[in-house]
Amino acid sequence: MTTNRKIETLLNDGKLKPAFRQIAEKVFNGERITKDDGLLLFQEGTLGYLGALANHVRERLHGDDTFFNRNFHIEPTNVCVYDCKFCSYSRLLKKRGEGWEYTMDDMMAIVKQYDGQPVTEVHIVGGVLPQYDLAFYTEFFRKIKTHRPDLHIKALTPVEYHYIFKKAKIGYAEGMKIMKDAGLDSIPGGGAEIFHPDIRQQIAGDKCTGEQWLQIHEAWHQLGGRSNATMLYGHIEGYEHRIHHLEQLRLLQDRTGGFQTFIPLKFRNQDNQMSHLPEVSVIEDLRNYAISRIYLDNFGHIKAYWPMISRNIAQLSLAYGVDDIDGTIDDTTKIYSMAGSEEQNPAMSTPELVNLIRQVNRRPIERDTLYNVLKDYTNEVFEDDKQYKGYVALPVVYQ
Ligand code: SF4
Repeated sequence: MTTNRKIETLLNDGKLKPAFRQIAEKVFNGERITKDDGLLLFQEGTLGYLGALANHVRERLHGDDTFFNRNFHIEPTNVCVYDCKFCSYSRLLKKRGEGWEYTMDDMMAIVKQYDGQPVTEVHIVGGVLPQYDLAFYTEFFRKIKTHRPDLHIKALTPVEYHYIFKKAKIGYAEGMKIMKDAGLDSIPGGGAEIFHPDIRQQIAGDKCTGEQWLQIHEAWHQLGGRSNATMLYGHIEGYEHRIHHLEQLRLLQDRTGGFQTFIPLKFRNQDNQMSHLPEVSVIEDLRNYAISRIYLDNFGHIKAYWPMISRNIAQLSLAYGVDDIDGTIDDTTKIYSMAGSEEQNPAMSTPELVNLIRQVNRRPIERDTLYNVLKDYTNEVFEDDKQYKGYVALPVVYQ
């Protein structure tokens, strides 16, 4: 059944409550839903209903196009001055010897391992430590650009920027300008967690506030930069906190238009200070993707990180508003596996990723970071993917 037929069926369903009919009509007509509408969707929206609406929005924006990119990650350190309760990744400063702390040379060695590989982006994010300061990162960005000018640098979150700029005694606007001049191309979506202070204070009370997170993105957008946004869900927050979070993003996006992609991140309970909490169900994951797609009418893309939710759920998510499943991430990222994600060895070659998308009748489109189309793989016939298997061994600095 086509998406429009599904919506018509919904609207003709005599059992549909009037409030849900009104929301469906708004979505069908391309109108914005309210905060109350969003809350009702979280509280009572069934998976089938939400999926029909979210898929309608997804297909109106992108048809069957499903985006991925080829990137690699550098995580400078997993030691951190902060102590977020949900974090399975970091080692506290007092346990410093248990983590890794890459030097500039270590990190340039990782960049050089990808020489000649068809990657378009390096994604840099990690813990917060004093030695990774303004001078360090501006020098690092310049070195990357000198070595490989075409590589898009997507780096650091407001958590890191807030710390770095405070230490350097400069404001956000000045700091982001310095980063841009050094070679920064875009900002990833991390560190957003949940903006509402009642929740943020409990799970991540010592790092930048939600307001500061938004201010740093705004400063970046005002320089013409693009960025992403995330939301950590499924822990102690209520639906009203998720709506508050989405609303803050929607409002900022109305002002700047600088966000590209929203990425919901599921709370995982392995090996962190919130391990006593159960994880939410797959149904809730899909509902959350769908409501995000419906609510954030001014965001271009909704992304599911396949290593976090598994390949099968990533396929399913493409029917619930998701149009991007990130990339052929290799095992240079440890964030997912250390947080107890479904994929403990997150490596997928380009043919594997393309086939995963084609299996559910969507169009695999390789993009660059800014969503320029690099290649449509719909009819690609793979021979032998010798060129890039998405795996490069890392130098081990600390064990
Ligand atoms: S979530 Fe980020 S800021 Fe918080 S402890 Fe972990 S690495 Fe540090």
